[in-house]
Order: sequence, then structure tokens, then C-alpha cells
Amino acid sequence: MANWLTNFVLPKIRAAVGRKEVPDNLWKQCPGCEQTLFLRDLAADLMVCRHCGHHFRIGSGERFKMLFDDASFEAVEPPRAPTDPLKFRDRRRYVDRLRESQTALGAGSEAIAVAHGRIGGVASVVAAFDFAFMGGSMGVAVGEALVAASRLAVERQAALIVVPSSGGARMQEGILSLMQMPRSILAADMVKEARLPYIVILTDPTTGGVAASFAAIGDIAIAEPGAIVGFAGARVIQETIRETLPEGFQRAEYLLDHGMVDMVVKRGELTATLARILRLLREPVGLPATAGAGGA
Ligand SMILES: [Zn+2]
Repeated sequence: MANWLTNFVLPKIRAAVGRKEVPDNLWKQCPGCEQTLFLRDLAADLMVCRHCGHHFRIGSGERFKMLFDDASFEAVEPPRAPTDPLKFRDRRRYVDRLRESQTALGAGSEAIAVAHGRIGGVASVVAAFDFAFMGGSMGVAVGEALVAASRLAVERQAALIVVPSSGGARMQEGILSLMQMPRSILAADMVKEARLPYIVILTDPTTGGVAASFAAIGDIAIAEPGAIVGFAGARVIQETIRETLPEGFQRAEYLLDHGMVDMVVKRGELTATLARILRLLREPVGLPATAGAGGA
């Protein structure tokens, strides 16, 4: 089907309306079922394949629009962080990689964005990762943003919701990037100590140092269907222990069966589920409104 569409139909359309008017980004092939999807339909379905339910990765902006009531939220200015503290260079200079990602995602962007607003009427701060920005890797800037998000949640007496989509630590920042692991844990603890909800929505992929730090300690861990969540990659584990891993290893559903996540929720039901949880946690139940005033 895909071949017929890409090899036969697309060239015909291009020939009919002129090459430049039909860019390739009108279509997307589903990695789950290999169907070719019309991007406009896919966006209307929250980037979930209508044939097989594959959840495509989405950026922080789409995530905010989806989660906040009436898609209304206020973006939080990211804190300043040192760029390229180690003057790192692999095949290319780190600053060039940063610049390239910023050109693609917008000036001043990083692998995470923070916004606040209401979810189900409950004051909430959301920190969402952008996998498109250097694999959502966690460097100093991401750590700073997580600390800022936690502080803001405490200040506003709001819930903190973090949505990781990350390969892990940012290699180009060496030890400084690893230091963001305990730092992000302390940030999450700040919210917990203030007796505010800290919820993690595990999306594909949540791996490495991110899986092994703040993403693992949510009061409630929700995962999107099919998301890969784990510390080391399946191939590395398989080569180390020299055993074949079980079917679906490190996938959200497997983790649910083994008690590592609390629920697997389809993207289309995520906002309503989150709103319900937040209301349960934040609104006094069975008490008249005035009698509940003594609580949080
Ligand atoms: Zn599909």
C-alpha cells in the first residue's frame, strides 16, 4: 500500500498541482502498521494512528495544548543555563548541535518546556520534554527547568506534572549532565514535601538517566501505550545477560503487569484521566466547602 501511494499516487498528485505544493510532510508513515496517514487526520487524532493505535512522539507545545483546560496556559520563561560548559566536541561541536536544534524548534528552546495553567480546574505546572531537541537529553538547562517548575508549583500551590520523552543524560555535558539526576530528584521532593501531587506521564522513550531519576518517583506513574521505559536498552541487557528477553520487555504494558507503572492511558483519554486524579487529590471529599478550608 505504502509503495503504491508513494510511488504512484504522490507523483501523480505532484504532476497535477506542481511539485512544491505537495510537500512530503503532508503524509506520515505509521511505524506501527506501515499505513500511510494523512497528517491532518493524524493531528486531529492527537498524533495517534487510527489503524493500529501507535502513539507518535509529540512536542511540548502540542502536549500543553492537549493537557491544559481549553488549551489555555502560560509558558514559563526558561532559566538561563550555561551553554557548552565543557567546550565539547565529538564529530561536531556541541554548540553547533545546540544551534541546529534551536533553529528547528525555536530560539531559546531546549529539550524541555514549562507552562502553568489549570487541568480539570486544578492549578497545575507541566514540564514537558521535546524529544526532537537532541533526543530530549537532560543537561544543565533541563535540570534548571525542572527545579524552576518545582519551585513554581510550590509557589502556586499547584500540582507538578512532568512528561519525559528522553534518551537520558546529555553526553556533551559529561558529569554536569549526570548531576542533574540527583538535582531533579531534589526538585521533585520539594513538591512532595509541600504535599502537592507529583505526577509523571511516561512517554516514548523514557530511558537512561531520566528513567533512573525524577521519572521513576512520581506519586502516580502514568504511561502512554507502547512507550519504552527503562534504564539500559533491551539489546544491551540481552547481550550482557545472554538471555532472550520476554516479549514486550520495557514497554508500558509490560511495566504495568510488573508493577512499575500505575496505569497505561491512551492519549485521547489522558487529559480526562489526569483531571480526575488531580481533582481527587486536591479537592476535599465529603466535606462542605467551608469546612475544608483548613486543609491545603
Ligand atoms: Zn498504525
